[in-house]
Amino acid sequence: MAVYLCHQFPDLHQHEANVLDAAPGRVLLDRSALHPGGGGQVSDTGWIEHAGGVVAIAGVETVDDAVWHVLTESVELAAAPVVVLVDAERRARVAQLHTDSHILNAIVFERFPGTLVTGAQINDDGTGRMDFDLTEIDNDVLRSLDGAVNEIIRRQVEVRSTYVDAAQADAVAGLVRSLSVAPPPTPDGQLRIIDIDGIDRQACGGTHLSNTGQSLPLRITKVESKGKRNRRIRFALDG
Ligand SMILES: [Zn+2]
Repeated sequence: MAVYLCHQFPDLHQHEANVLDAAPGRVLLDRSALHPGGGGQVSDTGWIEHAGGVVAIAGVETVDDAVWHVLTESVELAAAPVVVLVDAERRARVAQLHTDSHILNAIVFERFPGTLVTGAQINDDGTGRMDFDLTEIDNDVLRSLDGAVNEIIRRQVEVRSTYVDAAQADAVAGLVRSLSVAPPPTPDGQLRIIDIDGIDRQACGGTHLSNTGQSLPLRITKVESKGKRNRRIRFALDG
């Protein structure tokens, strides 16, 4: 799946689909609006309404380009039409944290020029972390960066997704950073770019808000030194 349905239709939270293949506890559908996760972002979850009832989707697993939905029960669905429902509340929580992590990344990159992200994790419980390759900076300075993130949330900055030629993206420094959820190039070689107007612009295949003002305030909860050159910034949605 090179183009995600959830990129084309971010507000699609319910749709019909057909079962292509099934095993106890897993099902392959012909289409799905669930985000498969990746690059430190958890996948979407949701539910499938089928002829025998409703079963919850625990997550998504991509095996050899086939996107399997892992179910919370070991039922085996029949090859028939079903209805897919996305857990929109969880999606929104992850999109807030993910968008906020772009902002935090941009602030760190600007204040401590050239600083690279070495890892990121976005959880579904409203918490996340980012690791930066940073040496000389005091942890208290990093802990206070949430003020600058919240300033950008308050300013209600527009967040757009666009596509550029993948070859062109390689030539633009900073456009593909390690924060990115492995951006899926489209069949015609286009890369998805997330542009937080005047703040951050990079290739990313994750789920984002359409305006920074849709995020709850962010609180940096802890800064840890992880090895000589690595700082781990832990954060949570405040509310
Ligand atoms: Zn992103």
